[in-house]
Amino acid sequence: MRILAVASECFPLVKTGGLADVVGALSPALEELGHEVQILLPGYPQVLEQLAQAGVIDDYAELYGGPARILRGRGANGALDVFAIDAPHLFARAGHPYVTADGSEWWDNGFRFAALAVVARELALGRVADYRPDVVHAHDWQAGLTPAYLVFDGRPRPASVMTIHNLAFQGQMPPEWLPSLGLPAWSFTPDGVEYYGGIGFLKAGVYYADQITTVSPTYAREIQGALWGMGMEGLLASRAGDLAGIVNGLDTSTWNPAADPFVEPGYDVRSLTVRARHKAALRERLGLVGDATRPLLCVITRLTWQKGMDVLMDAAGAMLEAGVELVVLGAGDPGMEARLAETAAAHPGRMACTFGYDERQSHQLLAGADAVLVPSRFEPCGLVQLQGLRYGCVPVAARTGGLLDTVIDIDEHPDDATGFLFQAGDAGALADVAARVVGVFGDLARWQGLQRRGMAQDLGWKRAAMRYVEVYERALGARG
Ligand code: ADP
Repeated sequence: MRILAVASECFPLVKTGGLADVVGALSPALEELGHEVQILLPGYPQVLEQLAQAGVIDDYAELYGGPARILRGRGANGALDVFAIDAPHLFARAGHPYVTADGSEWWDNGFRFAALAVVARELALGRVADYRPDVVHAHDWQAGLTPAYLVFDGRPRPASVMTIHNLAFQGQMPPEWLPSLGLPAWSFTPDGVEYYGGIGFLKAGVYYADQITTVSPTYAREIQGALWGMGMEGLLASRAGDLAGIVNGLDTSTWNPAADPFVEPGYDVRSLTVRARHKAALRERLGLVGDATRPLLCVITRLTWQKGMDVLMDAAGAMLEAGVELVVLGAGDPGMEARLAETAAAHPGRMACTFGYDERQSHQLLAGADAVLVPSRFEPCGLVQLQGLRYGCVPVAARTGGLLDTVIDIDEHPDDATGFLFQAGDAGALADVAARVVGVFGDLARWQGLQRRGMAQDLGWKRAAMRYVEVYERALGARG
């Protein structure tokens, strides 16, 4: 199959979150299965800089307010085949892809990402060079208009698949933009692009795509209900038969404790005792001075409501009382940083915080801490618990979304267990799980059993890529 992936991010060219990791890793995994993948991206400055030998394959005199050229080149040392939209009026902006320096959304995001979908349609319909895909795979709201434009065009078209990485971001635009976005007036209905009185980009994608996926089976179920459906539960439930949940893989070459440039010396499942050296170095650096035989729990996270940091702060005292040590590496909301710092200051020597997005530290925490705590309220897939499994850093995770699909609780399935699960959004449950962790940690054989089973898991992308191929086949069948 020839697959056109349409996305606003792709690691290593541009990344703000897990979406980029998926787009960047799924493509090579599909190619290993014998398929051909091209990725269409906005031509942000960092994307254009990293494209080797890019050539112009198409141009537009006018694309939402200015001229544009479509480039084709290779990214990630030649591993990725990329189409980029070189449209300076839309994408030549330094910094974050979606928000201005003061943190608000760019006013014209609707037009910027409609341009992405327009170019996707032209490529998909074979109007550019001799390219023509079998399947168009749209990722998140930024690519959401793609399946809609394909249907509205009315001509024979590739199959379309819409993937939801996080339903919290939906791309809602004002209704009066309908004509300028090139959307037909008749499409402004609940059976179309209309969504709560505006134009819903993700809604349009979910409505018009042949197949829909999200990033874990549990999240696929959760988003069909009122609690986590974020207003789209009715539509998603009505398309339940076309909605699949596929757990993300992990880039196991980047996340490999035996060959990690940030973790020296490296270790594997046969040399788990090396972790004690990393733990000692970590405790010294963080100023943790309590009983060294306590389990050290790390948290590696964006600081947002989704990630449950307020719940952690409420529970911190009781968790420390139960006998764990805590370290938080967090980036984001300054108010949350300040409150976390206060919480840590109230427990000197037993809880530490560092702030900022720090890749080196995240690797070192996974190699040195005993467990990784993931207290999310909701979590479409979650990567950090997979990283924990790979590093023998036992996941202690909220019972939600992809966390529930990837962590097996020790009390529920003692022989297959890889970690601990607890009720999401509940400070009391966090204190209870801390006590359970302390109990199991005291029994070396049981603890090492958790580590060994986690490290033995196959977390790579091949399995997920095979599932996506099945979805593409269903989409081709559905299109008829
Ligand atoms: P999300 O994409 O919602 O932030 P995921 O768990 O899917 O959550 O992915 C988060 C990724 O970002 C993981 O690779 C995690 O290790 C990394 N990460 C999150 N916060 C930080 C941080 N403060 N410093 C370094 N890495 C971080």
